[in-house]
Amino acid sequence: MPLDPVQTLRELVRIPSVNPMGRAVDGPAFFEHRVTDYLQALFTRLGLPWQRQQVEPRRENIVARLDGATPPDQGGAVLMLEAHQDTVPIDGMTIDPFAAAQRDGRLYGRGACDIKGGMAAMLAAASRLVEDRPPNLPTILIACTVNEEQGFTGAKAITQLWQSADSIFPRKPDAAIVAEPTSLDVVVAHKGCVRWECRVRGRAVHSSRPELGDNAIYKMARVLRVFERYQREVAPTLGEHPRCGRPSLSVGTIAGGLSVNTVPDECVIKIDRRLLPGEEPAAAMRHIVDYLAHDTSIDFPVEHDPPFLPSRGLPDDHNTLLGERLRTAAESVSPSRKLVGVPYGTDASTFQAAGVPSVVFGPGSIDQAHTADEWIELHQLHQATDILYRFAREFQALP
Ligand SMILES: [Zn+2]
Repeated sequence: MPLDPVQTLRELVRIPSVNPMGRAVDGPAFFEHRVTDYLQALFTRLGLPWQRQQVEPRRENIVARLDGATPPDQGGAVLMLEAHQDTVPIDGMTIDPFAAAQRDGRLYGRGACDIKGGMAAMLAAASRLVEDRPPNLPTILIACTVNEEQGFTGAKAITQLWQSADSIFPRKPDAAIVAEPTSLDVVVAHKGCVRWECRVRGRAVHSSRPELGDNAIYKMARVLRVFERYQREVAPTLGEHPRCGRPSLSVGTIAGGLSVNTVPDECVIKIDRRLLPGEEPAAAMRHIVDYLAHDTSIDFPVEHDPPFLPSRGLPDDHNTLLGERLRTAAESVSPSRKLVGVPYGTDASTFQAAGVPSVVFGPGSIDQAHTADEWIELHQLHQATDILYRFAREFQALP
C-alpha cells in the first residue's frame, strides 16, 4: 500500500523537530533527530536504502534512494526531492503545536505547512513510485535535511555528500525540487540575504557628568540615519529583478547601554540586506560599509562583524525549463499554475549554486507558515502528491 499523505503528515507533526534558532535548548522538542529516526524506519519499510549524515550533534540529514529503470551510469536520469526536517519554534502558538488536529479540511500544527506537508507529499509520491515501478522511472533521491530555518547548513552538507565516494548518491542530481509552501505554483527565483552586526564604541561615565563620556547610542543614531538614507535613495538604484523586485536594507535590532545612569560605551545593531538573485553577499555588504565610510557625518570608527548569515538568492537563468516541466505536471492536476519569484530564502539556492538546476514547490501557503495557528489545506496536500508523482514518473534529464 502506498503511503497516505494525510496520515504521514499527522505522524510527522506529532514528532517535534524544533530548530532552537538562538533559544536555550531546554526541552525535548528541540532538534530534528526524532524525525530522522521516523524517516529511517519509513524508508526501511519501503525497502529503500538510506544514509544518515551528521551535520551537528542530534542533527542529521537522511537521504533515501529509489533506483530508476536505467542506471545513472548508463544514461538514466537522477532527480532529488528535498524537504527540511526542522520547524520554527512554538512560542506564542494558539493551538496545540503537536496534536495534528484535523477540522474543516485542514490539518493544524507546527510544521503542518512549513514543511512537513511538503515532505509528506514527497514521501507519499515516492511510495507510489515504489509500488508502480513505471517503465521510465528515473533514480530518485529523497533528501530530508536539517537546519533550513537558520543557515541552510543541512543543504550545504548534501552538496558535499553527492561529491563523496562513500555516498548514496550515484552522482550529482540532474535537478532538484525543494519543498516549501508555494500554493502549488513553481518558484524559479528568490531573493538572498546577508545579515551582520555593526558596532560603535564610546566611553562609559556616570550620567550626571555626560560631558566627560562618549555616548555610543548617540553615535549609532548618526549611523542609523545613513542606513535609512541608503534604503530610501541607494537600494532602489541597485537593480530590479522581474520576479523578485528590488533589493532592500533593514536594521532589525539595536542593543546598547547598561543602565539609565551610565553613559553607554557600546551600541550594536543587526542589519538585514535582501539580495537580488545573482547578487554576491560579500559585495552587497562591502557596498554598504563603503557608503558609510564615505559619509562625512561619521567621523568615528564603525566596526562590522563578518556576516552571520550570507545566503545567495535563486536566479532563474538555469532552471526555467525544469520549472516549466513541473508547471505542466501541476496544471494537469490544478489549473492556472505559474512560475513565480518570492522574497524568502530556501535550500534551492544552495543546490543551484552547486550546479544543480533547482525549483521550489509544495502544498500550503507561505501565509500560514510560522503562524500561531499554522495549518495546511488537505486538498492541496493530495494535489501536491499527485503532481510530484506525475512529474517524477516522467522525469528525463534536461538538455
Ligand atoms: Zn520551510
